[in-house]
Amino acid sequence: MSHIIEFKVKDIQPEKDIVFKEFGIPKNNSVSEKIQQLYSEAIKVFRETSKPIVIYFEISKEEFEKVFFGEGNNSTETPVEQIFPKADNLILFALTMGKEVSEKIETLFKENDFALGSMLDCIASLAADKAVKKLETFNTENHRMHRKKVLTLAYSPGYCGWDISGQKKLFEYLQPEKIGITLNDSFLMIPLKSVSGILIAGEKSVHKFKNDFPFCSKCETKSCRERLKNLANGLLPFIRGD
Ligand code: SF4
Repeated sequence: MSHIIEFKVKDIQPEKDIVFKEFGIPKNNSVSEKIQQLYSEAIKVFRETSKPIVIYFEISKEEFEKVFFGEGNNSTETPVEQIFPKADNLILFALTMGKEVSEKIETLFKENDFALGSMLDCIASLAADKAVKKLETFNTENHRMHRKKVLTLAYSPGYCGWDISGQKKLFEYLQPEKIGITLNDSFLMIPLKSVSGILIAGEKSVHKFKNDFPFCSKCETKSCRERLKNLANGLLPFIRGD
């Protein structure tokens, strides 16, 4: 059975420092008055137009295997297929920041207001990531009751060898249409500011893997390395992969 939860916008609003960092402004640098005003305006629009909501349900390993191998387009080997068989629990999820904020970003770009459009786009993306992190943390805390060193991480179609066409089966199982998310012909989610994937909970060590898959040579961020570093430092990271 699926569950639907609305997030409070204030709970997932990204911190100012993180937004500026994403904009390429180093932490200790002074930020111009113009950028500060742009940030304030973008946050106001973000609060007025965002309606974050998530749909999720727990799925068995047997069912998830069908979702994961989807249309048969995944890379021959992937981190997720190594990790999910060792999981304690698996939760399919899809969340969106809502139609209004995504359309507002598109409108700003169409009207050539790139500054506000980019700032709002950045804030909405960071908020969606923060919402996923909240789901990871919530699921980890639930499982800590049973196992001490548990960790939940999210993995998404379109990353690390899980082909984007995997969205098709994920949508068949989860039906994110119930919260207003649809797929286009390229398997991209509408509204754009949406995230889908699988939350995998298990011993921290199950999330460790070598990043020597063939597709890793084209990966620019190597974000899984940051996750392993955080695991080693005992921090709870949020990385869906790249
Ligand atoms: S190097 Fe990049 S593509 Fe390879 S597993 Fe890590 S995040 Fe994924």
